Amino acid sequence: MSKKKRSKARLIIAFVVMLVSCLAVYAGVKGVGADLFAAKNDNVTADVSVSEDTVSEGEMFVTEDTVSDSESVPERPTVTYDGEHIVVSYNGEWEHMLVNRWNSIPEGYEIDTVTLDNGKQVDSRIYEDLRNMFDDARAKDVYPYVTEAFRSTEDQQGMMKLYIERYIEEGYDEETAQEMAEAYVALPGTSEHQLGLALDINADTNISVDNEAVYGWLAENAYRYGFILRYPEGKEDITGISYEPWHYRYVGKEFAEEIHRDGLCLEEYLQKKYDPDHKTEPSDSEEQENDS
Ligand SMILES: [Zn+2]
Repeated sequence: MSKKKRSKARLIIAFVVMLVSCLAVYAGVKGVGADLFAAKNDNVTADVSVSEDTVSEGEMFVTEDTVSDSESVPERPTVTYDGEHIVVSYNGEWEHMLVNRWNSIPEGYEIDTVTLDNGKQVDSRIYEDLRNMFDDARAKDVYPYVTEAFRSTEDQQGMMKLYIERYIEEGYDEETAQEMAEAYVALPGTSEHQLGLALDINADTNISVDNEAVYGWLAENAYRYGFILRYPEGKEDITGISYEPWHYRYVGKEFAEEIHRDGLCLEEYLQKKYDPDHKTEPSDSEEQENDS
């Protein structure tokens, strides 16, 4: 073998060795790479599912904890009586707040409202349940419409003023007109409409004039969404307001379900819950009709 041939052979051998080792390295890298990728992939999947679980469970627990804390920690409302009528202190549980002639809205009480398509406003916290209720009613060919919702103190005062003026126009003196108006309009600060949690719901007259269909559906189903018929028939002495099949009040699903099940009005339910030992004697208290 000549020198030239030997070096050529060496070159070839070196080349082959290089090629083989390159291939080996490549294969190795590829193998490792594939393993890494696979492992990474698994890890990622595992991580994602773990973190998803953690996140959703964590959030749910956090929310539940927060809610149950804030629901169990506030003191029980104190209960007193104004004659026959229960007076329940406000303990921060907004959806359970009692507002009527004997229970005024706490001073400085504020809410965030959401505006419905027709311009009426409600407390933003009830919007989702309200929307679901309306969607489900429509799915059953019942077409409810919110004719009245949130009223500001000024709205309520305006309504009162309107009634007084009307009576004065009819010839009553101012004092009498005022008294008469108060029999029909809730005094500012004592109307549930000022809470943004009360709604007057009638038929959507663009589609149907059948109010009874709406009232019937609501009476059977509203509690599922946290709403109660606030002024039931036969409870006028307790609520101070005549039967209003259109007036619904949001109290949350838990309260609504029990109130519906037991056929109570809110006053009776709160008494049962917070002052179960109280005995009321049947009485013939004032039977004044009052537009909520
Ligand atoms: Zn009303």
